[in-house]
Amino acid sequence: MENTFEHDLPDDKGYFGEYGGSYIPEELQLVMDQITASYSECRKDPEFRAELARLYKHFVGRPSPIFHAQNLSEKYGADIYLKREDLNHTGAHKINHCLGEALLAKRMGKKKLIAETGAGQHGVALATAAALVGLKCDIYMGEVDIAKEHPNVVKMRILGANVIPVTHGRKTLKEAVDAAFAAYLSDPVNQLYAIGSVVGPHPFPMMVRDFQSIIGNEAREQFQEMTGQLPDNLVACVGGGSNAMGLFSAFLQDEQVALHGVEPAGHTLQTPGEHAATLTLGEPGVMHGFKSYMLKDDQGEPQEVYSVASGLDYPAVGPQHSYLKDLGRAEYGTVDDDEAIAAFFELSRSEGIIPAIESSHAIAYAIKLAQKGVKGSILVNLSGRGDKDIDFVVEHYGKDYDIESLL
Ligand SMILES: *Cc1c(COP(=O)(O)O)cnc(C)c1O
Repeated sequence: MENTFEHDLPDDKGYFGEYGGSYIPEELQLVMDQITASYSECRKDPEFRAELARLYKHFVGRPSPIFHAQNLSEKYGADIYLKREDLNHTGAHKINHCLGEALLAKRMGKKKLIAETGAGQHGVALATAAALVGLKCDIYMGEVDIAKEHPNVVKMRILGANVIPVTHGRKTLKEAVDAAFAAYLSDPVNQLYAIGSVVGPHPFPMMVRDFQSIIGNEAREQFQEMTGQLPDNLVACVGGGSNAMGLFSAFLQDEQVALHGVEPAGHTLQTPGEHAATLTLGEPGVMHGFKSYMLKDDQGEPQEVYSVASGLDYPAVGPQHSYLKDLGRAEYGTVDDDEAIAAFFELSRSEGIIPAIESSHAIAYAIKLAQKGVKGSILVNLSGRGDKDIDFVVEHYGKDYDIESLL
């Protein structure tokens, strides 16, 4: 793809307008500067690009197709298309940036990839990339999450990763982040902290976006080939924002293409802690090493957040989304748990595709847009497949959708 790595933002300090940057201890800044320098060599290096392109094609199975969802389209009176990231090896878009990060780490002479994981999706994608590229992999995970996400824990171990239980505090993602960070600081020379979305200090929001921009670059070409036109609307769910930035990035200059990001309204937008609608209800601030919109509690600490989709419950968002919001170039709306679950079943039963609950938020939003009579076609990023979610969905929502308990 032609312009995979060509973007004029962020600036060389990592800012998208006032957002982004790097707010970290000085010793870590030196390491980040090295990562930035290596990455800027990689993005220009034909060999690095060719290796990544080879893996995208022959390992991940790219390009992922675009599918015209005709049954949904007829039912709701708008042409709805799906970019099928669910068909990637490992079942979601995360493998796109994990491979990029693993190749970069290898090139920098690192021995080990480190990350935290909540539901285990980032952990599995990173363990996969580490196995392929030949790096060690330490994944920090809260004990509570380990118990909940058994299949992903088993997968990581089969892939040769070291899953390290985090046993303090609430024993979930927040503590896992702290533990992974501490481990990274203990030896930043031999390890690379592989951030799982377009968040964190510069250069990660830029780098992860660039690795994910394959989605938008493919989609732009495929959609034109299919229809002779550009899509009128793009829709993607936003947790940290990587699948959305990957899709949006190829269309930023096309002002006639409307960009819609979808945040989780969880149980309700009325109560802090019951949603993760960062751009909708948050305010600018600094957390986790970067400046962006974020949700904070009374103490100014990261707010507890919630969504039925564990990949979406993050109290901040990638800085480029904050920039696009303020510019008015992208719009951000919300979908709650029940709407997402309804869309999960709707896509399963009308098109034969079981989506991830995260991606179901984007499907639900596309349906809402169609019902509101939005102009033109809608291209939805189907960021992942729902295999990981089926037991949870049937246990909690099966009855509402005519699935009798099998127990
Ligand atoms: C992790 C995940 C997301 C959310 O992450 P982004 O960085 O916002 O893309 C969305 N969909 C799926 C399937 C995921 O696994």
